[in-house]
Amino acid sequence: MATLGNPTNTIAVLQKYQFQFQKKYGQNFLIDANILEKIIDAAGVCSEDCILEIGPGIGTMTQYLCERAREVVTVEIDSKLIPILKQDTLVAYDNVTILNEDILKVNINTIVQERNNGRPIKVVANLPYYITTPIIMGLFESHVPLDSITIMVQKEVAQRMQAEPSTKDYGALSLAVNYYAKPQVMMTVPASCFMPRPNVDSAVIKLTCYDKPRTIVSDEKRMFDIIHASFNQRRKTLVNGLVNAAGLNITKERVLTALEKMNLPATIRGEALTLTQFAALTELL
Ligand code: SAM
Repeated sequence: MATLGNPTNTIAVLQKYQFQFQKKYGQNFLIDANILEKIIDAAGVCSEDCILEIGPGIGTMTQYLCERAREVVTVEIDSKLIPILKQDTLVAYDNVTILNEDILKVNINTIVQERNNGRPIKVVANLPYYITTPIIMGLFESHVPLDSITIMVQKEVAQRMQAEPSTKDYGALSLAVNYYAKPQVMMTVPASCFMPRPNVDSAVIKLTCYDKPRTIVSDEKRMFDIIHASFNQRRKTLVNGLVNAAGLNITKERVLTALEKMNLPATIRGEALTLTQFAALTELL
């Protein structure tokens, strides 16, 4: 079994199995041991932990996780990678379960029940970038017991998740992430740390999940519908965004009355509102 996380051993495994990268699956494998150690440190992986990894690739980060965690469950969509993982790169570990599944379809709640008695798990992953947002929102919205999510994502996406109100990066994703977790960008990672090199810079972000969402709102879905409508037309006022949104059925008068009660000007834009203000607005509407 080769220790991965360097170009030489990665190339050797790829050649041995004549593996062809699948662009459609966002396959960019890590080849830098230093970065891998830092990700595991950032995630705070320890010997008690049950880790869910999304997309092991040839098992590079999985090896590091297996060394430190009690148990690792790793979900890989590409069936061509499964024999490499099972027969070669992860063969030495008896604390890993390899599932050949699509992470967007697998029942993560069942995994948490079976593998961690329903206690919160840590998610650690170098994500396939083409489905970053659906994966994160899927984890949050399925209400899986989560301790934290430490993930490599495109640098701009990490910035959007951590953005403050009234900044250019602030939007629906910032608010959704902040509703469920405290985001912290841990490091940026240059394209040279991957094989093949992606066309973008990357960053590792840690989302430390709250026991309960940070803001109380009686209708979560309606709040997020309002948030999405507010950012759909960024350069328009909040009032116009909400009134023009199909399906919301909100009149201009109702929005103006709500804003007045919140001591906010009628000309305010959605990007100026905090999560707490969106929750208050939802209740008033
Ligand atoms: N963890 C490896 C590493 O760091 O070297 C590989 C990371 S690579 C960026 C993303 C991995 O996710 C690939 O192995 C890809 O095949 C896998 N993947 C893509 N879409 C997936 C999905 N829907 N469900 C599970 N795995 C997926």
